[in-house]
Amino acid sequence: MFNTLSDRLSASFKRLRGKGVLTEHDVDETVSDIRRALLDADVALPVVRSFTKQVREKAYGAARSEALNPGQQVVKIVNDELIEILGGAERELNFATKGPTVMMLAGLQGAGKTTLAGKLGQWLRTEHDKRVLLVAADLQRPNAVTQLQVVGERAGVDVWAPEPGNGIGDPVEVARTGRDHAITNGYGVVIVDTAGRLGVDTEMMEQARAIREAIDPHEVLFVLDAMVGQDAVQTSVAFRDGVGFTGVVLSKLDGDARGGAALSVRGVTGAPVLFASTGEGLGDFERFHPDRMASRILD
Ligand code: GDP
Repeated sequence: MFNTLSDRLSASFKRLRGKGVLTEHDVDETVSDIRRALLDADVALPVVRSFTKQVREKAYGAARSEALNPGQQVVKIVNDELIEILGGAERELNFATKGPTVMMLAGLQGAGKTTLAGKLGQWLRTEHDKRVLLVAADLQRPNAVTQLQVVGERAGVDVWAPEPGNGIGDPVEVARTGRDHAITNGYGVVIVDTAGRLGVDTEMMEQARAIREAIDPHEVLFVLDAMVGQDAVQTSVAFRDGVGFTGVVLSKLDGDARGGAALSVRGVTGAPVLFASTGEGLGDFERFHPDRMASRILD
């Protein structure tokens, strides 16, 4: 991830190294390199535009002030701007003050929702000492319920699955009864897995929205496969408008994607990236730190 982008940026910065002063021409050349590198990494155009605009203005400022070590100044400006588009300061999870915290997972099929339910469940159990209930409201994909049961067992958390009386065949009813079960039984967190499709469709959005309305979650996490490249923007906007979400989880950050999705999703949707999923194992999961990610890109 980000290898090509990192190489391209560092090649561009290399040209500034050792320069005593920074001219506006240097700034223009560097900004144009950055622009091309970001576009080639599949970063969304509006994000590239605002990124390069900010960098250009600040770097012109550095050029005018005849700052020392102009090369370093530019790297710092780019670093700060990367942190900004990646979401700035980290946001804490929104935990309920009373009763269980209700979380809902949304995203396309194959994005990594079911896997995430297990990862998040294990993390909340071990790091936050929470009793967690996973709710299998993905009734679209054959085996999704069994997969969640397997994942729940591995994560050491309970699973609520469709049964006669709790909404068999109706995902909204399963979600609602699961949430109610969590309330009555004193769970700390309830995580509702929902169905995705291979592409965005109206029926899926309506179902996800109906689940959201039925369970009134504290967090709706949109799971985005970082490997999808330019489609990421369209998918994210469709989910933002169709379901709405409070945070993003980037999955498959271990792959060799060019990084565009990771760099665009915050700017395009306004929602912060809260977690990164970095593999198929339950432990391959971490909080998303914009500053660390920026350093990795500029390493
Ligand atoms: P869902 O349809 O959204 O529930 O997606 P799944 O959780 O079933 O994940 C789809 C596939 O992606 C499975 O084979 C997972 O093992 C895999 N997967 C999920 N998250 C990651 C990740 O962060 N990295 C990698 N490499 N694979 C992942």
